[in-house]
Amino acid sequence: MHIAVATAVRLDELTRLSVEELSGIGPARARALNALGVETIYDLVTYFPRRYIDRSRQVSIGEAVPGEQVLLVGRVVDARRIPTRGGRVIVEAQLVDASGKITLTFFGQPYRAKQLASIAGEVAVFGRVELFRRRRQMTNPLVDPIGDKTGAIVPLYSLREAAGLNSSDIARAVAQVFSTYSDFVDVLPPSLRDHLGMYDVYQALWQLHFPSNEQARQIARRRVAFDELFLLQVKLAQLRAEREALAVATVHDTHPFGAGEARLVEDFLSRLPFAPTTGQLTAVGEIAVDMASEKAMHRLLQGDVGSGKTLVSVLAMLFAVQSGHQAVLVAPTEVLADQHFRSISALLAETKTPDSSTGRLFEGLPRPVTIDILTGSTPAARRRKLLAELADGYLDIVVGTHALFNDELSFASLGLVVVDEQHRFGVEQRSALTDRVTLQQGSSPDTLVMTATPIPRTAAMTVYGDLDVSVIEGLPPGRRSIETRWARTPAEATAAFELLRQQVGQGRQGYVVCPVVEESTKLQVRAVTDEYERLNNAELAGLRLGLVHGKMNSKAKEEVMAAFRSREIDVLVATTVIEVGVDVANATVMIIEDADRFGIAQLHQLRGRVGRGAEQSYCYLLSEAETAVAEARLGALVATEDGFALAEVDLELRGEGTVLGGRQAGRTDLKVASLSRDRELVLEARQHARAIIALDRSLAKHPRLRAMILALFGEDEADFLLRS
Ligand code: ADP
Ligand code: MG
Repeated sequence: MHIAVATAVRLDELTRLSVEELSGIGPARARALNALGVETIYDLVTYFPRRYIDRSRQVSIGEAVPGEQVLLVGRVVDARRIPTRGGRVIVEAQLVDASGKITLTFFGQPYRAKQLASIAGEVAVFGRVELFRRRRQMTNPLVDPIGDKTGAIVPLYSLREAAGLNSSDIARAVAQVFSTYSDFVDVLPPSLRDHLGMYDVYQALWQLHFPSNEQARQIARRRVAFDELFLLQVKLAQLRAEREALAVATVHDTHPFGAGEARLVEDFLSRLPFAPTTGQLTAVGEIAVDMASEKAMHRLLQGDVGSGKTLVSVLAMLFAVQSGHQAVLVAPTEVLADQHFRSISALLAETKTPDSSTGRLFEGLPRPVTIDILTGSTPAARRRKLLAELADGYLDIVVGTHALFNDELSFASLGLVVVDEQHRFGVEQRSALTDRVTLQQGSSPDTLVMTATPIPRTAAMTVYGDLDVSVIEGLPPGRRSIETRWARTPAEATAAFELLRQQVGQGRQGYVVCPVVEESTKLQVRAVTDEYERLNNAELAGLRLGLVHGKMNSKAKEEVMAAFRSREIDVLVATTVIEVGVDVANATVMIIEDADRFGIAQLHQLRGRVGRGAEQSYCYLLSEAETAVAEARLGALVATEDGFALAEVDLELRGEGTVLGGRQAGRTDLKVASLSRDRELVLEARQHARAIIALDRSLAKHPRLRAMILALFGEDEADFLLRS
């Protein structure tokens, strides 16, 4: 059945119509489109061009001048593999048009020979013209098959796996949608559309595929980006509102000097060797309000590295405990869970760190607080005991890894779930625990999510858009800034190790971090072990070195960490297993090898392992890389210690993908909007979305919007973010 009449259609209807319904698209073409992830007509109109070529800027091949970057359009002939002595494959081809020809040379891309030979029609080639043996050539240019193009600005679509499709095939299919339907019914409320003054959705989608000029494309992009962000924000606002309306939460006594049964928090605060910072108190205040209410708390706690998120989470947990409930803290790794267990125990006990092989009872407080740790490597007998103690309410706080998500766990009364480094967990895991407990006890535990390093505001609004956000402003007093240097030459690297030796001579400690070896963990272990041996015999000879990496079992790891904490080890040579949480105030030097191989957030997190005491600390970034990316990343690290500022730089450099991670995969993926470029648009979309949902949670008064939200995110609201 083909749709014959040109009519207006609702976009949500297009999400239910297969591309095969379009005239001119048969089963074969449909299959090719499916291979691109395009199944419905909606998928097709939102399959946006990857780039465009502006044919007015195109140069004829005869005119292409060596040294310049140019766009050429022509036909590929004579593509072939040229074997070399080194066994490397070079692929060569000729690009021809009426004015002349040029050689295209590809290194390390053996698939090119077949691919280029199979292209029918013209290709757009973008690259720098070089002279090689007096012939003009381009090395590893961008190649886009365009088919038979028309018009001044030609859309180029990503073609990945789609065999036998070129950009003009896709453009034709898209154009077919527009000739089938005379209009798309706009889902934005008319008042909002007028207010924003943007193209209507039909125009915008058309212009984004087939722009009449650059300005029109920009306006179209803005509208489509707005819709993307707006629809997501409506869903997030709805999710939040529905959750608030549904679940009755555990109500906590959050009075610090309280009427509560045991006044735990007051006593805890009075015994703390330092005063919480204003930033910490503000965050605790926001958490307290949520926890005292019948609405379930869903709050994100952001704070820079070292801002003291742990203390804030402990106060939240004590609110739960003094109200007669239990609290769990979930960390992404065993090292981190162990570290949390230690530092929370230390905060509670204000004595020496407890032995992690036994649960602890802190009798100093007006009411004993019990805490224990559960991970994948907890021995079966201890695990059984712990489960029983959780079920009968003996244990107040349990720290652990995802082992805590296990179905076997049941609680006497779980009041709070703290999730550290949330991005490493699937959302489904967190909500599975909460949902199960809610069913069991009839009230929902509160949830506090903590991020390791700050994430930019727009990203927080998108990835964690259904959560409220608290930010710990500032750092505890007395922190000295960490001197950060980029060691670009072997001499500067030597100086870095020299400084480390000096610091050790003065009783301090340090870290040397080796880069991740992507290929395999086996190679990784070898690399870090080799480096450990090398340093032992060279730069750091005579010092007491320890080695820690991800492949060691947790007992061995813990032994090394314990030796480091008790200063039996001067320098820890490590992979990024020490990235998060490790808290040794006596460590003052952090040396990061091949620093350009790490991301900004990781570098910032690693740097945060030093500067935790009163002494001046140092961070050396070792890298001889001269790339623009290295310049931008390492330059930013040297320039600022502000994690929020670094997060913005990171977003700009790396784009959304890395920030959004798995959570935004699939339908909620941002195709057009950019969290760094479209900052105000994110704010605007969120503001309008929240305003609408505040008055009309179920969208009864906005039926078109409602239909679209349902079409995109499905009925099962708690589930939509999980789809990927
Ligand atoms: P992060 O936010 O990076 O998780 P932590 O919670 O690990 O930071 O805290 C970093 C260090 O600062 C810890 O050693 C902690 O004991 C200490 N700390 C936390 N709050 C304060 C404070 N208000 N005054 C002094 N030191 C503090
Ligand atoms: Mg921490």
